[in-house]
Amino acid sequence: YSEANSYNGGRGHIAHADAVASEVVPKKKKVVLLGIGWAGMSFLKNLNNPNYEVQVVSPRNFFVFTPLLPSVTCGKVEPRSIVEPVRNIISKKNIDVSYSEAECVKIDPENKKIYCRDVINTNVKGEDVFAVDYDYLIVAVGAQVNTFNTPGVYENCHFLKEVDDAQKIRKNVIQSFEKASLPNLTDEERKKILHFVVVGGGPTGVEFAAELHDFVSEDVVKLYPKVKDYVKITLLEATDHILNMFDKRITSFAEGKFGRDGIDVKLGSMVTGISDKEISTKVKGDSKSSSTPYGMVLWSTGIGPRPLIKEFMKQIGQGNRRALATDEWLRVEGFNNIYALGDCATINQRKVMEDIADIFKKGDKDKSGTLTVKEFQEILNDVCERYPQVELYMKSKQVRNIADLLKEAKGDAAKESMELNIEEFKKALTEVDTQMKNLPATAQVANQQGAYLAKCFNRMEECERNPEGPPRFRAEGRHRFHPFRYRHLGQFAPLGGEQTAAQLPGDWVSIGHSSQWLWYSVYASKQVSWRTRALVVSDWIRRFIFGRDASG
Ligand code: FAD
Ligand code: MG
Ligand code: MG
Ligand code: MG
Ligand code: MG
Repeated sequence: YSEANSYNGGRGHIAHADAVASEVVPKKKKVVLLGIGWAGMSFLKNLNNPNYEVQVVSPRNFFVFTPLLPSVTCGKVEPRSIVEPVRNIISKKNIDVSYSEAECVKIDPENKKIYCRDVINTNVKGEDVFAVDYDYLIVAVGAQVNTFNTPGVYENCHFLKEVDDAQKIRKNVIQSFEKASLPNLTDEERKKILHFVVVGGGPTGVEFAAELHDFVSEDVVKLYPKVKDYVKITLLEATDHILNMFDKRITSFAEGKFGRDGIDVKLGSMVTGISDKEISTKVKGDSKSSSTPYGMVLWSTGIGPRPLIKEFMKQIGQGNRRALATDEWLRVEGFNNIYALGDCATINQRKVMEDIADIFKKGDKDKSGTLTVKEFQEILNDVCERYPQVELYMKSKQVRNIADLLKEAKGDAAKESMELNIEEFKKALTEVDTQMKNLPATAQVANQQGAYLAKCFNRMEECERNPEGPPRFRAEGRHRFHPFRYRHLGQFAPLGGEQTAAQLPGDWVSIGHSSQWLWYSVYASKQVSWRTRALVVSDWIRRFIFGRDASG
């Protein structure tokens, strides 16, 4: 919370570096964007500053609408409908953007270079690495699946992270039914082939289990009537509940519905290993593990950092973290020209208690050594912006005004005339930091971060003209870069049978067919182009009328 790095967003340094720009045609600043997922796509879509030259580097030349990946696994939606080619997005921009289909393998911040492996020619020419220079680097490479080093996972499980994965799952599901329908099998063999296991009771695992159950009850019964009774779906969850990031009402509704549907939800069940035929699990508290034969396993237990990010964190002394640490302006800690956002990054939120003396000093305008309610009220908006936990704390305690917040420190002193010294101020805010939370790894966060960063880049010159940094407080703060602030718009959990659980802001919960319609309309509206919107909606209609396509 030093002067330079606080209210002005610490962007003064960018200006200083460029102050000597020559009078001849100024060269465009080069922005290199790694990854064209939710964060990268959102950044690119929102960037409109013609003073930048953007180079996108990403190993796949399309954006994937990940929330619809589970729908692809059983043929409700076609894979082509949920991807948008990068080149379509670029062709709509009227700024200078280029794209290279390659994977970044190393970041060299000293020389402002990245090294990339060309993923197209690798097979032809062997290792092909090239370097790209940058003025600003934006790291938005997402994360990868996490196996928690469980033996056999990579070799024997399916994942659901990419379009390829969803297509493989679809093929495998359908082939399982064909295999089980062959005449030369025993009942035991059919049971094994049609035992589908989902590991991980998070949103992805739950949605896949629901999709599979729908496929069985709506289509398989008609298409494979002879084998339908051999199907079994098991959902393994290591903790005490599935969907535990959702409201309790949603969790218990989902568990109840899955129970009625015949999906075997096993809570407190840890997977200890997977062979090509059996999956071994251990129940919480037990020392012995038991094995069950399976036909197919989907592994969806969470995410971990990609090798590039692990390596970069080691290089810059961030050690063994789960994601790259940035400040609230999404700059990688310690670097002025490297930004990171989305699933590969996490914001290092500042603690109020660490900055308490500075906050007190800022508030105490008359330098009286005490802070009045009025003085604190004046800086509250800025404090809440920098320390979102203050607002969360006030909400959680149902404290409506500052006086009530500060009162605890003073006993029952009259509110209006209350004055606090630093010790009392500290006491009043002691518990505030307990409300600090990391943002979830969701498309919603990545999307908002991309849009935020693009806005900062769109206004970069404005701030360069005013290198001293923006004025301190909101009333005067026309040039100021606000720190990133997440706005939670709610969350869905599709549960199958045209029922969805929705948890909207303010802990408003709605479960059932009506929220399924809300789900359809939200996901139609969130499509990145009219083209994919039309494709997705027509897939939905096709499925309603004709059922799923069971060729695979
Ligand atoms: P990604 O979207 O994963 O994008 C990463 C990009 O970087 C990709 O283009 C990738 O090809 C590229 N890349 C990878 N390595 C490199 C490299 N070395 N160099 C250059 N580029 C690289 N979130 C929600 O909010 N709602 C949902 O309903 C939802 N459903 C989901 C369902 C599924 C099945 C999955 C897997 C995720 C879901 N999510 C959902 C989470 C959401 O998809 C992620 O949080 C989001 O994609 C994160 O965005 P990102 O840009 O950080 O990463
Ligand atoms: Mg991205
Ligand atoms: Mg994506
Ligand atoms: Mg993140
Ligand atoms: Mg004072």
